[in-house]
Amino acid sequence: MITRFAPSPTGPLHLGHAYSAMLAHDMARAAGGTFLLRIEDIDSTRSRPAWEAQILDDLAWLGLTWKPVMRQSDRLPAYREALESLWDRSLIYPCTCNRRDILAAASAPQEGAAMGPDGVIYPGTCRTHARVGSIPTDGALRLDMRTAMKGIDFVEHDHNGKTVVTSRDHLIDHIGDVVLSRRDMGTSYHLSVVLDDAAQAVTDVVRGEDLRDATPIHVLLQRLLTLPTPVYHHHRLIRDEAGKRLAKRDDARAIATYRSEGATPTDIRRMVGLPLHLAR
Ligand code: GLU
Ligand code: ZN
Repeated sequence: MITRFAPSPTGPLHLGHAYSAMLAHDMARAAGGTFLLRIEDIDSTRSRPAWEAQILDDLAWLGLTWKPVMRQSDRLPAYREALESLWDRSLIYPCTCNRRDILAAASAPQEGAAMGPDGVIYPGTCRTHARVGSIPTDGALRLDMRTAMKGIDFVEHDHNGKTVVTSRDHLIDHIGDVVLSRRDMGTSYHLSVVLDDAAQAVTDVVRGEDLRDATPIHVLLQRLLTLPTPVYHHHRLIRDEAGKRLAKRDDARAIATYRSEGATPTDIRRMVGLPLHLAR
């Protein structure tokens, strides 16, 4: 078993992240497997080396150990290669819409816009853009979901011990043409996570249930790129006393804050409801 924790260094490690990391770590250790770490730093406008250093320090303080880190910013050639493959098959197209264009085109007068895992479902304005020549680099690249689903009736994956089946109609109508490469980034969360989990040979993805709706996108990409589909474990989210999801910026719940107040790693385990003894 190979699990991973994949933080984005865009803020402090908070209680919810620590829970996710310890769960993935414990699961691998209990199975005699391997726990990996991956720094998801493709968003260079929001990622900071100082956050990364703090996250690594907090994880080590929690008692976790890991194999050498993979860093997404080192992986741009691999992302590019996958995009070339999708482009050569006319499965992606350039999109130059901004947020406001998308909202205006997506909202039916009475209903408002339909929402998918990435927000408003893309209305398809740029789907007719030419898909010839070399990959355009001046905008975003979107997956043409309808074309991608040609000859595929459904995708399926194992989630918390059950098989989850996602139909072609669901992918087309409720997920739509997701962005696979963001402007100025050369990739996207969805593309990177799929390629990196495969490159790290991750067998079991452990992450929060906030990413549950993104999983069928990842499973489809695995299929399109001939990559294995790992088993998915989506865990509950850690909430504050008011039942609110912990926000990234909620420094009050940062592990660093608990540390400075004298908490021990065992206290943190107790707070999130994990067995107090870390499996080694
Ligand atoms: N980097 C993502 C985050 O911090 C996690 C991605 C994943 O686990 O798939 O939310
Ligand atoms: Zn567009």
